[in-house]
Amino acid sequence: MRNCIFCKIVEGSIPSVKIYEDELVLAFLDISPINFGHTLVIPKAHHTSVATIPEDVAGRMMLVGSRIGVAMRRGLQADGFNLHLSDGTVAGQVVMHAHLHVVPRWTDDGFHWNWRQLAYESPEIRAEYQEKIVSHFRLQRDASEVEADEE
Ligand SMILES: [Zn+2]
Repeated sequence: MRNCIFCKIVEGSIPSVKIYEDELVLAFLDISPINFGHTLVIPKAHHTSVATIPEDVAGRMMLVGSRIGVAMRRGLQADGFNLHLSDGTVAGQVVMHAHLHVVPRWTDDGFHWNWRQLAYESPEIRAEYQEKIVSHFRLQRDASEVEADEE
C-alpha cells in the first residue's frame, strides 16, 4: 500500500535492521524500543487490522514472535518477553500496518504495563458481556469484513 512505512520496509525502499524474513513475514528492530532488542513482526502483505490476516500468516507471526522471544532469552539474557499487539488507534496502534511487538524483559528493566483489574458488578452483567461477544464471534470473516479492509 502506498505511503505505508512498513510496506516500504518490506519493499526495501526504507532500510530496517532485520531479525528474520521468510515468504510470509518480516521481523526487524523497532526504531524506538521499549527495551533494546524490541522487535516487530509484520505480515509482508498490507493489513491494517490483525483480523484480516490469513490464518497461515497470523500463525507464522505468532510462531516467529515466540521464537524471537526465545532468542532474546538466550542471546540477550532476557528474563522473559512480552508479545503485544495493538489493533486500532484507541488501542495504541500508531502504524496502520498490523504488527506484533516482541519486547525483551529483564527483572530490573524499570518498565511496567499500565495494567488494571476491574471487577464485574454481578454475574448477570458479566453474562451480558459474554453474550454480546459470543453472538458476534465468527472464526471466519464474512464478506462485509473483507470489503471494509479493502477500502
Ligand atoms: Zn503496509
